[in-house]
Amino acid sequence: MSNVDAQELAKFSALAHRWWDKESEFRPLHEINPLRLDWIDSLAAVRGKRIVDVGCGGGILAEALAQRGAVVTGIDLATKPLGVARLHALESGVADLDYREISAEALAAEQPGAFDIVTCMEMLEHVPDPASTVRACAALVKPGGWVFFSTINRNPKAFLFAIVGAEYVLQLLPRGTHEYARFIRPSELARHGRDAGLDLVATQGMTYNPLTRRYRLEPDTSVNYLFACRKAAA
Ligand code: SAH
Repeated sequence: MSNVDAQELAKFSALAHRWWDKESEFRPLHEINPLRLDWIDSLAAVRGKRIVDVGCGGGILAEALAQRGAVVTGIDLATKPLGVARLHALESGVADLDYREISAEALAAEQPGAFDIVTCMEMLEHVPDPASTVRACAALVKPGGWVFFSTINRNPKAFLFAIVGAEYVLQLLPRGTHEYARFIRPSELARHGRDAGLDLVATQGMTYNPLTRRYRLEPDTSVNYLFACRKAAA
């Protein structure tokens, strides 16, 4: 298996037991979850849709999508986060949610075009070859279907906010969570999408106010941002 960094998986596995603790290292994911969920739902109406959540981790988004009535498969390559996700789904008693330890590329080979919606959040900046993941996401979705990505921009401000601010000053995330060189400019992600047959439909920025400790969706994509893409109809 090529498009995976074992050290990255190990980082997430080591913290997995705290995944659903809203005051833990995963607090940012819990805080942004309602924002991204509503944004995805507003564009792609998730109820009744088949969704694969790529790099689902402990299942924060996957479970929320299932709770909104989608039929969700969460995939990841880190074993412990998947175990936590499965247990949490059992506790929540949410229907139509299952998890698999498989790469996006392998699932795309197994079930091409099987999903109405693909979500891939906060994951591309942890893989060696994000273009390969984008291609796999494009292969997983049906013609006319939606693919959502979120990641972190690469520029001096993003370095200051996402690494210095979040990891060192505010200590929202453990040091070493993110590597600057792996951040992805929107222009680069747009190109990966285009190369994979995905049209960029909407872009959304996400900002954090350290004083109010609140995240918001805003036009400003200079640090955190989301993409909504569609595969051309057949
Ligand atoms: N998408 C989730 C979790 C983000 S954390 C959310 O936003 O709530 C990043 C996740 O990507 C981790 O669970 C990590 O194990 C996973 N990941 C990293 N490299 C991966 C790869 N090559 N294939 C699949 N998942 C990967």
